[in-house]
This record gives sequence, structure tokens and C-alpha cells, in this order.
Amino acid sequence: MIELNNIKKNFGELRVLKGVDLTVHQGEVVSIIGPSGSGKSTLLRCLIGLEKLEAGEIFVEGNRVNTFQDGPQKMGMVFQGFNLFPHKTALGNVIEAPLVVNKLEKSKAIDLGEQMLDRVGLLDKRDVYPAMLSGGQQQRVAIARALAMQPDIMLFDEPTSSLDPELVGEVLAVIKELASDKITMLVVTHEMGFARSVSDRVIFMDEGKIIADAAPDKIFNLPEHERIEAFLEKIL
Ligand code: ADP
Ligand code: MG
Repeated sequence: MIELNNIKKNFGELRVLKGVDLTVHQGEVVSIIGPSGSGKSTLLRCLIGLEKLEAGEIFVEGNRVNTFQDGPQKMGMVFQGFNLFPHKTALGNVIEAPLVVNKLEKSKAIDLGEQMLDRVGLLDKRDVYPAMLSGGQQQRVAIARALAMQPDIMLFDEPTSSLDPELVGEVLAVIKELASDKITMLVVTHEMGFARSVSDRVIFMDEGKIIADAAPDKIFNLPEHERIEAFLEKIL
């Protein structure tokens, strides 16, 4: 489904990705953990075609991703901040891309939008504006909005990091539900309980490299590498 071959990315003098290899199979859920500044967000941005690579190749479903071109259609991305359009209702946010990008008929877009809101448990908030929703609800609308483009792959970049602690669970529950639907997912997260219980694999990044790629039990129970150990000790 996804193949990264020796990806390198610099910002000026700063070498941010120093040769990343990664294969993700259809339906796999992969958590990406690691210290701040290790290149996790940059990796996702490269994958979705938002960054020009210094070296390496990215293939999605066998097609090479050309920067700024065919990455985004197949992938939905959810960020740390909710980034909803404040002047549109929950439904308005969800149907915007299907209407504008996919040129879907309005009635069909509304049907689709309602299905997606239902999927994240927010059909009853259909006509509510973002300002009237909790952070957790806003993030669930953002997930519905990404799903409305019917992506094969969902990328999450710390989707719960800006939420109050009591709102984290409802968002993780929605993501967990998607995992059981076998959508291929890459999730950058600091929620170790989630990484452990939901993902098929956990990737640990440090200083622009993947330094471990293993089943959750292995990563969490047998931290072979002292940097993983040090990181887990700090946050657990
Ligand atoms: P992470 O998501 O793991 O915290 P990032 O991928 O956001 O790490 O950042 C990796 C490094 O690249 C950091 O040192 C960050 O400051 C730098 N960086 C990220 N984006 C840019 C950019 N657009 N311009 C310059 N430096 C950047
Ligand atoms: Mg980041």
C-alpha cells in the first residue's frame, strides 16, 4: 500500500529525514512515536506530497507520489489543531471537499456527509457551528471531513495533543473504530495506551531515522534500544 525508499528531507542546513525506509500494508495500523523534532510530522507531510524530497521515492498503491500532485487524493489527514471552517456548520465542513473537489451533486454530498457524521457519532450536531462544539467534537468532525473524501489511507498527526485530557478518549475511540474497519492508518501519537492496544506496528523515530519498527509488545516490553527506553521512561 505504502512504500518509502530511503527518503531524505532537509530544511536548509537541517537534515530532518536521514534515509527513511518504510512499508505499510493494506489495512495496517501503524503508530509513529518518538521525541519532538525527530521528523514525524515531516514524514507524514512527505507522504502526502506536501514536501519536496532531497532523495528517495514514495509509492502509494504502486504509483509514485509526485510532490504536490497525486498524493492527497488517496489520503486523508487529520492534524493536531482542528482547522475547521468557522463559518460552516459541521455538515458544511464535511461536504465542502466532496462538493468543490469531487463536484458531487449537493443532495449526494449531504447524504455522504450525514453518513460520515454518523460514523463519528455526531449526526445530531449536523447544523452546529465549530465554536459551539467541544474540542473533541471538533476533532471528530475533522475526521468525518477527511473520511468524506473516501481515502484509502488516513494519516493522523497527534490528533489528540491539543485536547483537554477528558476529551482524548472519544477521539481515540473513533480512530479505533476506523482501525477495526481496516482502513490503512498512520498515527503519530503520544498516547502509548492507544499505540499499544490499537496498532499492528509501532515505529520509533529519533533524529530523522526509524530506529525501531516492531509489534507493540516488542516495542513496549522489550525496549532494545536505550533511546526508546529513555523516551518511554520520560512519558510513561
Ligand atoms: P516532529 O513532528 O517529530 O516533532 P517535525 O517533523 O515537525 O518533528 O520537525 C523535525 C525538524 O524539522 C524540527 O527540527 C523542526 O524544527 C524542523 N522543521 C519542520 N518543518 C520545518 C520547516 N517548514 N522549515 C524549517 N524547519 C522545519
Ligand atoms: Mg509533529
